[in-house]
Amino acid sequence: MIKSKGLSNASTKDFLSLVREVYGSEFIPLHRPIFSNEEKTRVSEVIDSNFVSSAGREITVFEKEIASFVGSSYGIATVNGTAALHIALKLAGVDFGTEVLTQSVSFVATANAIKYCGGKPVFIDVDRDSLGLSPTALRAFFETNVRSQNGQTVNINTGARISACVPMHTFGHPVRIHEIERICHEFNVPVVEDCAESLGSYVDGRHTGVSGKCGTLSFNGNKIITTGGGGMIFTDDEEFAMRAKHLTTTAKRPHPYEYFHDDLAYNYRMPNLNAALGLAQKSKLDFFLEEKRRVAEIYCKFFNERNIRFVWEREGTNANFWFNSIILKDIKERNKFLEETNSQNVMTRPLWQPLHQLPMYKDCQTDLLENTIWLADRLVNIPSSVPDLKEL
Ligand SMILES: *Cc1c(COP(=O)(O)O)cnc(C)c1O
Repeated sequence: MIKSKGLSNASTKDFLSLVREVYGSEFIPLHRPIFSNEEKTRVSEVIDSNFVSSAGREITVFEKEIASFVGSSYGIATVNGTAALHIALKLAGVDFGTEVLTQSVSFVATANAIKYCGGKPVFIDVDRDSLGLSPTALRAFFETNVRSQNGQTVNINTGARISACVPMHTFGHPVRIHEIERICHEFNVPVVEDCAESLGSYVDGRHTGVSGKCGTLSFNGNKIITTGGGGMIFTDDEEFAMRAKHLTTTAKRPHPYEYFHDDLAYNYRMPNLNAALGLAQKSKLDFFLEEKRRVAEIYCKFFNERNIRFVWEREGTNANFWFNSIILKDIKERNKFLEETNSQNVMTRPLWQPLHQLPMYKDCQTDLLENTIWLADRLVNIPSSVPDLKEL
């Protein structure tokens, strides 16, 4: 790992020039969607068809296209990524009074979805290179905090069953999923991968999210492709997929005219209007991935020359470079950089406030979270959109 020597004033100035060279001279956001006429055409066709809501051709086509892209048998489209994770966790067996192992380095939705199921997050440390759940920390937690009881894994501190483990591929950098899978399998805990940030990220040539029970995606406006708002569950398990579809569509039994709902379920289905937008975006996904890699390479060269760590993909993985990140020397240097760039209309952001520090999650069990705190003090996200292209 390259040690950061510190960011001089000159480097910050050079960085601002570089960003303007890539993105132009106005306000530069962290991430913005790119649309062409295709989006407008697709959406207006759906409006003309009247099928704007939870039924329509586009949703099922979009589900098939995304499932095929990630290499899963089934895709179930939802209103957003949080809803996808909520249902995935519920089906994986997260219910009231159970605990779920996850990382404190994540967007708040990861922990919220656990809470919606009545579960309680337990925050395990991340690795400094992957930015995601650390298999070493995970194993250490299992070895010192759980016992086996009637085939279940129980936290000895609380007596609660550990119902799932949710690793998240931070900013599109894949976690060490093989090790995590192996450990969770050993302790009989299902893995649900939060792939909201990792569409187009691979481990050993396989898409993120296909190693465990299922993966979930987000198509929010700032994600790699967008449906406005949207999400998806993907899985190879037919039964799981059918139950996910049922639970996201108010558990209505199919019938030509009767209304019969056989469970307390959710109105979580992605509207067809959004799926139309998604199909147009999906057709650009390969291109977006290439462009994002090109930007990341430019940044990587720039920061390497200045001995500042730019977060690159780990060996054996392909990152989608959704959000590019650099690791600065300390919190002081981080704050100075944030101040100087944002005041110049170049949007940069620190890491999310670690989830265990938020009021709703303050009383959750954690390990020492050394790397979590270390990263939170140093990591900065820099502009990462696909540069605007005249011809699309
Ligand atoms: C974006 C995101 C989600 C889900 O987001 P929605 O806005 O509900 O689509 C979940 N987890 C992570 C890590 C995310 O970045």
